[in-house]
Amino acid sequence: MTEPTLSRDAAHRRVLSNNLRDAARNSTELGSDPLRQRLGFGGRWTRRHWAHASLFASLGALVAAIVPGFSNTLQAPAGAQRTTMSLSLPPLALSKQQGQTGDSWQIVSVNHGETLSHLLDRLDVPETDQQRLLEHPGLKKSLAKLKPGTELAFDMPVGADGKPAALRSFRYDRDDSHRVELSLAGEKVAEKVIERPTETRTVVLSGKVGGSLYRSARKVGLSGGAIDTLTDDIFKYDIDFNSDVGANDRFSVVVEQTWREGELINTGPVLAATFTSGGKLYSGFRFVRDGKPEYFTADGRPLKRSFIRMPIPYARITSGFGMRRHPVLGRMRGHMGVDYAAGSGTPIMAAGDARVSFVGWKGGYGRTVILDHGRGYSTLYGHMSAFGNIRAGQRIAQGTMIGRVGSTGLATGPHLHYEFRINGVHRNPLSITMPPPEPLSGVQLAAFRSQVGPALTRIAKVENIIYAGDTGTRVAAALGRRGKKG
Ligand SMILES: [Zn+2]
Repeated sequence: MTEPTLSRDAAHRRVLSNNLRDAARNSTELGSDPLRQRLGFGGRWTRRHWAHASLFASLGALVAAIVPGFSNTLQAPAGAQRTTMSLSLPPLALSKQQGQTGDSWQIVSVNHGETLSHLLDRLDVPETDQQRLLEHPGLKKSLAKLKPGTELAFDMPVGADGKPAALRSFRYDRDDSHRVELSLAGEKVAEKVIERPTETRTVVLSGKVGGSLYRSARKVGLSGGAIDTLTDDIFKYDIDFNSDVGANDRFSVVVEQTWREGELINTGPVLAATFTSGGKLYSGFRFVRDGKPEYFTADGRPLKRSFIRMPIPYARITSGFGMRRHPVLGRMRGHMGVDYAAGSGTPIMAAGDARVSFVGWKGGYGRTVILDHGRGYSTLYGHMSAFGNIRAGQRIAQGTMIGRVGSTGLATGPHLHYEFRINGVHRNPLSITMPPPEPLSGVQLAAFRSQVGPALTRIAKVENIIYAGDTGTRVAAALGRRGKKG
């Protein structure tokens, strides 16, 4: 039980992402000229090649092509607020306000684990002022969790002794678009809220895979998290990033960016994405169903499968489902599951979204986890060397690391014993038809559909500008195609 403190989420991401992401990072590197690699050219450069090269050079500007008005149709329900008002107040970063003549502002950066009280002590703010400030309604709540590096500003005139005589004002950023100034000069603490205009734009970021999907995607402005979404949540079922992807394949991603004073301060989740590989177009769209964001095909079917086929990555099946001589007991008996050989310590993933029904020792199974997936489905994982950070009764997502391969209980060597049950009856997980996940329907489907068309149209517009000369698939023409496959 000495599982490292790696959070469940992080572990999950690591398990799911590593292979794909490494593949993305390490895909084909040819030669040394990075431009040639990215463009996938060999041999002599023709005039057309050079034209492409210059197109590539301008790609950085084009990929950020702003798509005005689009955000009205495709927007996360959290609804980032759009403001376009222009204020006369100079909304400088706190640190830029330092050094103005005659002011006595001090900008303080929060250290790890530091609270507002710590800071006030550190700055020698007089006790009475500290109390007045901390008692101001809402302040403690606003600043309850101070992140390291957060900047706070204190206006503190210095007395004759060189020590702060009083705290005159205090400034902090309540959120991305509101700066609060508290003045202690009068009898009461006066609060002034300064609006800092932010602008949210929906943009299409697009690029070619080139030498590395990861690097190309970073270059056009996608975050590591967004790339994980592409490889792990949207395209992993259709595209094998280890082998299927070529330098000329391209991706386009719709995201919302929040800007403030010319600075990108936040990028939202992937709203829609297309991947054109070998002339085929794949796509995925974000939609929040019952409060949970999911990715769907263009016709509203979840991209996520109800169950992943193998709960450990790249394992070897050493014993199938059915009758066999038990390797430890030596008797013939039914093998009610599938054995996967893998090194001790290999992470084991939850095969589907589930409620944990058992975590503990179970006779010959050794350290065992049983998951209840609802609708009569349950799975069992035996012989573990360690458990993940889970407990009985907890709800966990597909892919959560539930434990590690081991050889506890009746096992000859490290392997995962995996059982799949439907209404209590053992079934062969390798041959049964997995239940299809619930598609969108009714009002939700209608709402979803109204977002898909505009998203694809915008992507198509941007792609048609950037890849004008390419003979790739036209995005708009392929609308809905993806849904026709299994
Ligand atoms: Zn077994």
